[in-house]
Amino acid sequence: MSEKKPSPQCPICRAPVPALNINSAFPFCSPRCKSEDLGKWFGGEYQVPGRAASPEEIVEEVRRPRDDH
Ligand SMILES: [Zn+2]
Repeated sequence: MSEKKPSPQCPICRAPVPALNINSAFPFCSPRCKSEDLGKWFGGEYQVPGRAASPEEIVEEVRRPRDDH
């Protein structure tokens, strides 16, 4: 049995991630990968599929009487 844990991998470049106490970019391997991840968010790569309901639609849904059961 081994006590050795696998080192975490950078989600961007798959490089081994330095320990949190010496790595301000944790859980990324470097500040560069950290900003790359932010860029993905702003670039829409992580967008949730489907479109969000507009406030009007939500109000409509709440007002509708639930008599179908
Ligand atoms: Zn990386």
